[in-house]
Amino acid sequence: MRTILIRGGWVLPLSEGGKPLQDGMVKIIGNKIAAVGPWREPVKEAEPYEVIDARDRLVMPGLINTHTHAAMVLFRGVADDLPLMTWLKEKIWPLEDRLTAEHVYWGTRLAINEMLLSGTTTFADMYFFLEEEARAVEETGIRAVLSRGLIGLEEQAGKNLEEAVAQAREWRGRAGNRITMMLGPHAPYTCPPAFLKEVVAAAKQYQLGIHIHLAETADELVEIGKEYGIRPVAYLAEQGLFTRPVLAAHAVWLDDGEISYLARQKVAIAHNPSSNMKLASGIAPVPKLLEAKIPVGLGTDGAASNNRLDIFTEMRTAALLHKVQTNDPTVIPAETALKMATIYGARALGLGDVTGSLEPGKSADLIMLDLKKSHLTPLHDPVSLVVYAARGSDVSDVMVNGEWLVQEGRLVRWEEEEVIGEAARCAQSLVKK
Ligand SMILES: [Zn+2]
Repeated sequence: MRTILIRGGWVLPLSEGGKPLQDGMVKIIGNKIAAVGPWREPVKEAEPYEVIDARDRLVMPGLINTHTHAAMVLFRGVADDLPLMTWLKEKIWPLEDRLTAEHVYWGTRLAINEMLLSGTTTFADMYFFLEEEARAVEETGIRAVLSRGLIGLEEQAGKNLEEAVAQAREWRGRAGNRITMMLGPHAPYTCPPAFLKEVVAAAKQYQLGIHIHLAETADELVEIGKEYGIRPVAYLAEQGLFTRPVLAAHAVWLDDGEISYLARQKVAIAHNPSSNMKLASGIAPVPKLLEAKIPVGLGTDGAASNNRLDIFTEMRTAALLHKVQTNDPTVIPAETALKMATIYGARALGLGDVTGSLEPGKSADLIMLDLKKSHLTPLHDPVSLVVYAARGSDVSDVMVNGEWLVQEGRLVRWEEEEVIGEAARCAQSLVKK
């Protein structure tokens, strides 16, 4: 098996108690991390090894995007500066009605370009044409948690659920275990009780997690309140949703009782600060969620409401947003923001043993930042540097599952320009009248 030794100017393991290492080393055997520690000249080993001199780089775990709709990059910039319900009902849903498999394939490929080039090695997605997404993930080498978006109000909702279950069974564990599958009922306001109960039963039967939008806007509380006389969390609880592992996106509008309930139910939350700010949905109570020991990861949401798929932006935004909201600059310190983008995100996706930190036995999912930059100088504190000063474009190298997908800032396995061209063509054909 191939052995690689990376000598990093700085190595951030982000493991329990793992302090930043200056002149550190990451040893990779095959697709797994074998060791992390201070650099030592290798003794002659029986196995040949390759040494990568990254003394001018910072080595850290790959970033985790816990909530997105990858192919929505095709809608980047088509509908800005609107509230969620207007944005969805008047702009996004009519465009989505025109989507074809080809659009979703190239949209997902474009999103994967952007995510890899800005250091994301795992993303959790909810969208349509799941086969195309899964194919894009399989071909490119990124890691993903995929769920087909299910709208329970549609006439063919039952048939769509059946298809989603069949796709989940077909794709789970594929691509060298890089693909995890979940079921994706869209949101409380698009899924009636009987449909949600069917989703829960299927998830139980096939041991699948559930990815859902939850309590994103104040409008949602009003809508669910009018329809069922209760709040969104209670509504989902009544359908038995929390008997399954749940990844809830947003969770903006929660009260203290709901926070302790979600903690007891071991619900994971995807916090999407940029999307919540852009749609003026509100501010999720992240400091309280973390205090309740809920795994909170960071997400970009779709590019139509962000408009980036860059977790560096989300780290910095999360760290800043909660400070200004609480009037307390000590809230969400840099280290917490960085953990939300890595190990907490991995745990939120049920992948805490696979990725999210540099530890022996985990998959070799890592990134390097080029430190030879004016805006990354001086380096007093590597964690502060990553969260507050670095940008996605500082990522020079990306490895997923032991494979280099980005080197020296370029995608190594395919032509970036080809994907840009195809995706731009698809986006044009969608907005054409
Ligand atoms: Zn979303």
